[in-house]
Amino acid sequence: MAEYIRFEHICKNFGEKKVLKDIDLGIEKGELVTLLGPSGCGKSTLLRILSGLEDATSGKVYLDGKDITNVAPQNRDIGMVFQHYSLFPNMNVRQNVAFGLKKKGIAKDEIREAVDRMIDIVGLSENADQYPSQLSGGQQQRAALARALVTKPKVLLLDEPLSAIDALLRHSLQVEIRRIQKELNITAVFVTHDQEEAMVMSDRINLMHDGKIEQSARPIDLYTNPQSKFAATFIGHYNVLATEKFVSIMTGQRPVGKDLSRSQTIAFRPEIIGISKSAPANVPADVYLLKGKVSMSLPHGNFLRYNISCGQTQIDVDTLFNRDKLYEDGAEVYLQIPAESCILF
Ligand code: ADP
Ligand code: MG
Repeated sequence: MAEYIRFEHICKNFGEKKVLKDIDLGIEKGELVTLLGPSGCGKSTLLRILSGLEDATSGKVYLDGKDITNVAPQNRDIGMVFQHYSLFPNMNVRQNVAFGLKKKGIAKDEIREAVDRMIDIVGLSENADQYPSQLSGGQQQRAALARALVTKPKVLLLDEPLSAIDALLRHSLQVEIRRIQKELNITAVFVTHDQEEAMVMSDRINLMHDGKIEQSARPIDLYTNPQSKFAATFIGHYNVLATEKFVSIMTGQRPVGKDLSRSQTIAFRPEIIGISKSAPANVPADVYLLKGKVSMSLPHGNFLRYNISCGQTQIDVDTLFNRDKLYEDGAEVYLQIPAESCILF
């Protein structure tokens, strides 16, 4: 499959500040990709360069085989949805959605048909005659989505569209946006700082850090195989330790299979750790054994996260939250960490 969107060596400076540093990134047709990263890492700037609202300092942008670097925003065939509802307050949903088509001078009954269809797809048929002030935040974002999609843009850009919406509704809108994107088979670039949101929605996640793409991967690959300390810390709440420190808190025999001496950092996820009160009788040869004390535990939805002190080192262990707490604060526990689940940097 040929790339549909291509960022080629994109750099962006604001004055002295280098905000994007040589971004090289391809996006395929029909994919939903996210730009994920902490606030200030350059996500919106990269999106705005694709939309034409911002010019790159250097580099090129291609869409559908065409160099669009110097094409005006209104001629790029791109639809956008922002965090803050950008509907016209004096127009109802139908009028808002029709706006872009009217500007294109399309026949009235054709507009009516396209608008009604899109309003139906985003689930607002009951609200078509209502004004923005009469809609909830989620409904306003559905209307904004319909307005962006009705002109059949080549690409849909969404910049943190759900950040202002409360958690429960946000989750159902994530699923909805994904359904609509697939149904229309539209190429979409979605910006978020929320790793769970990126996991739920994306075909591919581009993890950004300090103006660069840190890693570009399918959600599952980013989760199971982060390629840097930053990626491991940002995704999936890995325990990230200096290898030397990890070796110093190990008890029992030294497992076979991984050469720890060659790495500086070891990372492992909280849910792959086995926890028990008594010393395990037979520790397999490829499992690291640690001994520690429960310092705290906190429920996180469907799992319970124990904070374990191994000397001065803290390790998080997650267990399913489907029964009473098994380990009280202060309890001595043993931790088993399979070597094959550890990532070395
Ligand atoms: P993100 O969307 O990842 O939070 P942005 O792309 O908005 O990050 O911003 C990246 C960096 O560029 C930030 O440090 C921000 O302060 C800076 N920045 C963004 N827009 C401008 C601007 N118009 N002028 C100066 N600095 C800007
Ligand atoms: Mg932003």
